[in-house]
Amino acid sequence: MIVTRFAPSPTGYLHLGHAYSALIGWRRARAVPGGRFLLRIEDIDPTRCRPEFEAGLLEDLAWLGLDWDGKVRRQSDHMEDYRAGLERLENRGLLYPCFCTRSDIAAEIARAGQAPHGPEGLLYPGLCRTIPPSERARRVEAGEAHALRLDMAKATALAGPLDWQDETAGRIVAAPEAFGDIVLARKETPTSYHLSVTLDDALQGVTLVTRGTDLFEATHIHRLLQALLDLPVPSYAHHPLLAGPDGRRYAKRDKSLTLRALRQAGRTPAEVRAMVGLE
Ligand code: GLU
Repeated sequence: MIVTRFAPSPTGYLHLGHAYSALIGWRRARAVPGGRFLLRIEDIDPTRCRPEFEAGLLEDLAWLGLDWDGKVRRQSDHMEDYRAGLERLENRGLLYPCFCTRSDIAAEIARAGQAPHGPEGLLYPGLCRTIPPSERARRVEAGEAHALRLDMAKATALAGPLDWQDETAGRIVAAPEAFGDIVLARKETPTSYHLSVTLDDALQGVTLVTRGTDLFEATHIHRLLQALLDLPVPSYAHHPLLAGPDGRRYAKRDKSLTLRALRQAGRTPAEVRAMVGLE
């Protein structure tokens, strides 16, 4: 049985790149008897997500001719699931509170005179990793603002060698250590993209993750979290990002190429599907 999903963040109106991605997942599920296509709203960041974009994307997908199975899962309704996931990692001794501000981190990087780069930018220099447990507990209890970071060295040692299967790229050996001690929960958002997406794909029974190659690197982390949280491992199909005639990738800034604008300009769903090459 195949279960795919489309998981947009309601931070703007859907554009042609989203239509392409959603259609890929939808077509894979609809191509086989019993296949399921799920829709998930990734709205953990309250500062960027807006209800009108959520309503807009449901409307735009339906207009395009996509249907989805079961209830839409809205991440902000499931913070308890993410808290439980964090607790499991915590119980395995894999998380530590990080009290650093951005400027603390920048100062430490400047002091050290070098800063290794990971796929998501400069690596955390580990300042809070070595705070003694009693001091950590005292500062957390005193209500000091903190994020929760994954102790990457411990986590990878515990998980051992890992790989995943990508339909296009083949078997990929996971190398999550390149990311350093990633943040899994923030003070203002007590979860993260990596944690919630990994837990949700498992909780929703997703068997094939179809998404853009911009998220290819993130899969190294997701594979590690699956191992640490004892979750099933889906297959992956990272598709190329759609580019316009000028060779630039579609993005939220391309206001004229939102599904909404195309519809208002009189384009039909069939024409839009043809525009992304999936008629
Ligand atoms: N919410 C993510 C986005 O809009 C996609 C997450 C995923 O497909 O894993 O870029």
